[in-house]
Amino acid sequence: MEKISILKCKRCNHEWPTRNNPKVCPLCKSVYWNEERKPKRIDLTKLSLIKRVMMNDKVSESVVENVFSCSSAVLKKHISLSMKEGMTLDNMKKWTIFMIVPFQIFSEHENEIKRAYHYTNLKALWVGYDQWKNKYD
Ligand SMILES: [Zn+2]
Repeated sequence: MEKISILKCKRCNHEWPTRNNPKVCPLCKSVYWNEERKPKRIDLTKLSLIKRVMMNDKVSESVVENVFSCSSAVLKKHISLSMKEGMTLDNMKKWTIFMIVPFQIFSEHENEIKRAYHYTNLKALWVGYDQWKNKYD
């Protein structure tokens, strides 16, 4: 006779009896039901990569492409267009890069992270509205 065990989802705490090893939690449908949730943080090295692109520093095109899904030229143009009056490359400490759809909305799935950092989800914003530092640090 097969043994029935009680499993517990580490994401939503749902418990259920089962005979097999499930792929998803039956309640929240998470495929990560057996993995602890890692605290999600915006990667500040990625933010500084944008600043380096803006400053015309040498960056790896393949890294930029991989993180922001565009070339550094497109990223620079996109961010430049979102810059408000008074934002310059000299006062970059006063403004930051902001995610239009907040980081916390996305799951930790690799494809979702890519969508979060997708260049079309980024824009320049004054530090007073700083989502990165105030809310998610
Ligand atoms: Zn669950």
